[in-house]
Amino acid sequence: GDEDLDTVVMPLPSISASLEGTQFWMHIYLEAVEKLQSWFQLPNGNWELGKILSTSGTESTISLPDGKVLKVKTESLVPANPDILDGVDDLMQLSYLNEPSVLYNLQYRYNRDMIYTKAGPVLVAINPFKEVPLYGNNYIEAYKNKSMESPHVYAITDTAIREMIRAVLEIAHPLKKWVIDSANLASLSAHGLIASLVFFGGESGAGKTETAKIAMQYLAALGGGSGIEYEILKTNPILEAFGNAKTLRNDNSSRFGKLIEIHFSETGKISGAKIQTFLLEKSRVVQCMEGERSYHIFYQLCAGASPKLREKINLKIASEYKYLRQSNCYTITGVDDAERFHAVMEALDIVHVSKENQESVFAMLAAVLWLGNVSFSVVDNENHVEPMADEGLTTVAKLIGCNVGELKLALSTRKMRVGNDTIVQKLTLSQAIDTRDALAKSIYSCLFDWLVEQVNKSLAVGKRRTGRSISILDIYGFESFERNSFEQFCINYANERLQQHFNRHLFKLEQEEYIQDGIDWAKVDFEDNQDCLNLFEKDRGSINVECKFHTLSSYKSAEKPLGLLSLLDEESTFPNGTDLTFANKLKQHLNSNSCFRGERGKAFSVSHYAGEVTYDTTGFLEKNRDLLHLDSIQLLSSCSCHLPQIFASNMLTQTEKPIVGHLYKAGGADSQKLSVATKFKGQLFQLMQRLENTTPHFIRCIKPNNSPSPGSYEQGLVLQQLRCCGVLEVVRISRCGFPTRMSHQKFARRYGFLLLENIASQDPLSVSVAILHQFDIMPEMYQVGYTKLFFRTGQIGVLEDTRNRT
Ligand code: ATP
Ligand code: MG
Repeated sequence: GDEDLDTVVMPLPSISASLEGTQFWMHIYLEAVEKLQSWFQLPNGNWELGKILSTSGTESTISLPDGKVLKVKTESLVPANPDILDGVDDLMQLSYLNEPSVLYNLQYRYNRDMIYTKAGPVLVAINPFKEVPLYGNNYIEAYKNKSMESPHVYAITDTAIREMIRAVLEIAHPLKKWVIDSANLASLSAHGLIASLVFFGGESGAGKTETAKIAMQYLAALGGGSGIEYEILKTNPILEAFGNAKTLRNDNSSRFGKLIEIHFSETGKISGAKIQTFLLEKSRVVQCMEGERSYHIFYQLCAGASPKLREKINLKIASEYKYLRQSNCYTITGVDDAERFHAVMEALDIVHVSKENQESVFAMLAAVLWLGNVSFSVVDNENHVEPMADEGLTTVAKLIGCNVGELKLALSTRKMRVGNDTIVQKLTLSQAIDTRDALAKSIYSCLFDWLVEQVNKSLAVGKRRTGRSISILDIYGFESFERNSFEQFCINYANERLQQHFNRHLFKLEQEEYIQDGIDWAKVDFEDNQDCLNLFEKDRGSINVECKFHTLSSYKSAEKPLGLLSLLDEESTFPNGTDLTFANKLKQHLNSNSCFRGERGKAFSVSHYAGEVTYDTTGFLEKNRDLLHLDSIQLLSSCSCHLPQIFASNMLTQTEKPIVGHLYKAGGADSQKLSVATKFKGQLFQLMQRLENTTPHFIRCIKPNNSPSPGSYEQGLVLQQLRCCGVLEVVRISRCGFPTRMSHQKFARRYGFLLLENIASQDPLSVSVAILHQFDIMPEMYQVGYTKLFFRTGQIGVLEDTRNRT
């Protein structure tokens, strides 16, 4: 149980009888100093383990493993743990919780294919980039019957399930509270009835999606039986086909965030599920970088469609389409797109998307591809353009079900109402291209939403909600590229929010344990990332209402009236607003904010918890407005394609206010279009609210190298992720507190023999206290609780060293 997790089990040494008293302690002390191992940082940033040979004044002499002897500044040395602690399961067991020790411990395990390690309550998973023999039925069985307990995503998933089941027996059942209402929600979640597994923080390619799937497999194996678990697993290939793409960092990068809520029946069987998605990267449909790909489904369709389907939707090979051609990358090593296409069709069958609807989906995909091939020619001397009446145009019209004339008009003119009059404006080439691309992006994102809706219908949780669920969150990690745009801005904002959830949750847990054991616990002031969140979210007055679910938040009101998001929205409503005026506005309003820095030209920087990121505002306003012009909307709502529902649900929110310019009011009461940032913030707040009502389990995925290649572990890269995704934060929180705990019994058993007086007959608590006194452990270094002793970091190390030398 939890005792063994807290301490290291070591063989009992024999007592040295010849040395006693002061002399004994002096001897131990000298020996300890002589043999002390320390971390020494090489000029390349890597850490090496050295032995301290001697120390005089501020200088120490150390010997490195290669035999070199160096004189170094004593203060630059970082204490290393005794060998006995090599590769511990839980970083909390380390006596010295410093960066090199943590790095070394993870590497030690990684080299032995132990890719999972606990960091206190958090599971750290390091991507092996190869198949590791850790999964499958035998392992599932072993974790299920507890014959295996080493850290694993199965183990943390198992904990979540068990907590849920226990909560059912202990809390819900006696109270007969099967149905959630707002009154019992908090109490149910506090008891683990509603749990969540949160995969985040990991950067692209760290393994969030793969690890989340492994957790789902475990849930399906334990809660299976109804058959619905099979459907749930099949949502993965579907969503990945439509929402994942090859990027420079990851061949299967998720370009959307996903929360899947898996519900359990009263007998602990999976009864249904619900998927929610966040901010699909639409721009990828029309634009992607050299060496990257658009969404997998396009290539799969082009490679795998049957001749009959090809003819029906006039499909060509991928290289015939401009949208796919621009990045000059069609295949992924080791992936057969045609084969994948068949797997996706099969998965669609399983989640009950009819053949007819599947065909409509493929027709819409083809329409998007053909739209990209629509080209324009100049028609007058004012540089106005019209689409060429070629195969592209006619095919799009046919696929979406409108006549060519209508489509032509929608792509080359813009109707606008001025007062009571409607005027028709002709478009220039760049306006026409923007209109065309907006239409393509809109069709694709509607299609994506529609699919998620269909999947949800198929997985629908019955009417009778049991209130038992485990949610899995797989959201894009923090991104910092050479050039960061609106997408990174939103993604990093989301991560900032999640980081706060993470910090507060762990911090709270920590404090609760201290209070429960009655120890004298002065609340540790925890420095959170509220300032950065304020930089994003400050709003004229409304923020407090929107954030009310955050119990710990302390919004310093009115010192800065507006934040990044509201300034962005404000500028987006100005007809003459440009990315440059937006950037200038930020500098004007936010320059005194410590998390903000105006950069040259159109750029600005934000100090995120994970590091500083410079954003280029180019495209911010357009992406935030995300306008689909009235003409396009009218076109889509009148077309006779087979999926009018796809558009129907989305059109209302896409409406542009029909007056001159891009006018709309963000967050207005009428049904005008919300800006992308505002919509995203709303979704994020809903997500946070949902997470707040669950017992969370955090899994941090780490990418050990950028190659990617198995076996390579780059210290600097891992360290950067440990820092940025908050693993060291947990460590830091623990260092403020008393991370090492040991029950009085265990402590007395382990160190009692070191006592000079024999008081072994006494109760464990008295023995423990006597040991503490004899070793002169400073009172501020420990706390005596009702059941346990709590130590500051490193304290047990001193006792262990003594014990080993005795
Ligand atoms: P993104 O943020 O881009 O979506 P991600 O964190 O979701 O990235 P994954 O797609 O899960 O990253 O993982 C990237 C690749 O790493 C996988 O395609 C797979 O090859 C490998 N990988 C991840 N986890 C494992 C694992 N447990 N075992 C073997 N390979 C893995
Ligand atoms: Mg992913």
